Amino acid sequence: MTLSTTASQVLFDRAREVTPGGVNSPVRAFRGVGGVPRFIDSARGPWLTDVDGNRYVDLICSWGPMILGHAHPDVLASVTDAAAKGFSFGTPSENEVALAAEIVERVEPLEQVRLVSSGTEATMSALRLARGATGRSVVVKFAGCYHGHVDALLAQAGSGVATFALPDSAGVPASAAGETVVLPYNDLGAVEELFAVRGEEIAAVITEASPGNMGVVPPAPGFTEALRRITSAHGALLISDEVMTGFRCSRSGWYGLETGAEGAHPGGYPSGAPDLFTFGKVMGGGFPAAAFGGRADLMARLAPDGPVYQAGTLSGNPVATAAGLATLRACTDELYPRLLETARTIADAASDALSAEGVAHTVQWAGSMFSIFFRDEPVRSFADAQAQDTSAYGRFFHAMLEGGVHLPPSAFEAWFVSGALDAEALDVIRAALPAAAQAAAAG
Ligand SMILES: *Cc1c(COP(=O)(O)O)cnc(C)c1O
Repeated sequence: MTLSTTASQVLFDRAREVTPGGVNSPVRAFRGVGGVPRFIDSARGPWLTDVDGNRYVDLICSWGPMILGHAHPDVLASVTDAAAKGFSFGTPSENEVALAAEIVERVEPLEQVRLVSSGTEATMSALRLARGATGRSVVVKFAGCYHGHVDALLAQAGSGVATFALPDSAGVPASAAGETVVLPYNDLGAVEELFAVRGEEIAAVITEASPGNMGVVPPAPGFTEALRRITSAHGALLISDEVMTGFRCSRSGWYGLETGAEGAHPGGYPSGAPDLFTFGKVMGGGFPAAAFGGRADLMARLAPDGPVYQAGTLSGNPVATAAGLATLRACTDELYPRLLETARTIADAASDALSAEGVAHTVQWAGSMFSIFFRDEPVRSFADAQAQDTSAYGRFFHAMLEGGVHLPPSAFEAWFVSGALDAEALDVIRAALPAAAQAAAAG
């Protein structure tokens, strides 16, 4: 039996007339897996319902933000109340103070944050601040790490760029990319060599706290700490991009896991915390809110106190900040172990089904974020991630979709769970897996 996709197809055809590729963010177009993207009509709890009336268990969760599931009652109430009081003021308002305070309270090294509207804006602004503060221009990033579509960072990025296997993007001037050095992830030797030669030119190293945009590839033990040590020794800043991991891997993000505040990797960062952090996704609760932050002395370089300009008409929007605040407040200490248990249940079931069909795969973790790479060996870098069997993933993806489970439409993405996944949703996932594993095996 095949699900009807007539209404999605009609919308997709119309969308392609008025929007490039029919989508407003490339990975949504299903190019990595083929077929017709499902146009979603509504979402509640763990379910997405498309315009043809098909219902799917959601394992994308808007690429992370919907950590509580869809239309969570507390968030809905906060958003409704906020919207009733007006949509945007262009003046300061209380919710933005409360959201900033909640973020600063959760992530110990943060003293101040500035709110923006997207993760891209957060990383772009953090880079400008790092360059302004150091008076240097070179930025170091790692292959497979995605930091939004910032010109300087669209070099060997993961996410949609990985799906399309674009080495780079057209329209990024050589001058912008020329100030960026891309190194292989988890390769400390490469970092040391670069700093030995160009250490005085480097403004910052930016890294995903635990990469999720090439699939989940956690830092090797000691890698982040070594980045801290090396950057400090050369007067460069370390920017930890927690747009994806922030408030998802733990109540204080990957930082909480790596420092042992949340118990998993005690002893992280003996030589100090990252200088700057960036956040988005979960902290917006499904609305456009993101942030960057760090020590007060560094953040004081920003306008209006300092010379580094940064601004936004909708920054700290009262409705978006209401959604973010309500979401973070519902991200309690009780939620995180539950997410982890749910994620393990799903990953174990998927792994068992794939093993039963002899499909090569590896499961990798960052808190409750995980991905299944379709290859046997561990994935420690973007090159490793690219060596997987993406067509097997495509067949697996479509069989899962047919079985009522919406996975990320790319082999280079994390699977995201929500606190709303209940026994019924887990049953649907379990029931879909055997046929999907057979499809993956039928290459
Ligand atoms: C999603 C993401 C971004 C970009 O955020 P947008 O809100 O899509 O601009 C940046 N960095 C990381 C690590 C991300 O996962």
